Amino acid sequence: MRIVVAVDGSEHARRAVEWCARYAPALGAEVVAVHAVETPVYALPTMAYVAAPPLTDEDREALHRTIAQEWCGPLSDAGVAFRVVTAEGPPAPVIIEVAQREDADLVVTGRRGRGGFAELVLGSTSHSLTHHLPRPLLIVP
Ligand code: ATP
Ligand code: MG
Repeated sequence: MRIVVAVDGSEHARRAVEWCARYAPALGAEVVAVHAVETPVYALPTMAYVAAPPLTDEDREALHRTIAQEWCGPLSDAGVAFRVVTAEGPPAPVIIEVAQREDADLVVTGRRGRGGFAELVLGSTSHSLTHHLPRPLLIVP
C-alpha cells in the first residue's frame, strides 16, 4: 500500500503528515510526500507578465531538506519510511500526477493550507482534488 501526502509547510499539512505517521504502520503503507513548487508570475503595470527566476539546484536541495527534515518530521519520529517528491506547477495537478505515477492507494491532504481566505472551509487545492482526483482522498481537519 502506498499513501501520497501533500505538504505545503502549513500547520494543516502537518496534521495530514501526523495522520500518516499514526496510521501508515497499521496499514503497512509506504508514504510519499509531494510538494508542488508554485512558480509565481508577476503582473507588471504594463500588463506584461514576468515569471520568477527558476529554482537553482541549491534551492531545490535546500527545499528537499526542509521537506524531509522539518515538514515530514512526524514520519521520521514514528519510524515510517517515506520519500519526498517535488515538482514545479500548480498544486492540484501536480498532486494528481504524482498520485497516478505512484499508483497511490490513498491521498492525504489538509483541509486548508498556507494561503487563502481564512473563512473558507476548503482551500482551492483540496477542493480541486475532491473534483478531479481519481483516487481515494482523505482530508484531515
Ligand atoms: P488556497 O491555496 O486556495 O489559497 P489554502 O492554501 O488555505 O487555500 P489549500 O491550498 O487547498 O488551502 O491547501 C490544502 C491542502 O492541500 C494542504 O494542507 C496540503 O495538504 C495541500 N497543498 C496545498 N498546497 C500544496 C502544495 N504546493 N504542494 C503540495 N500540497 C499542497
Ligand atoms: Mg494553498
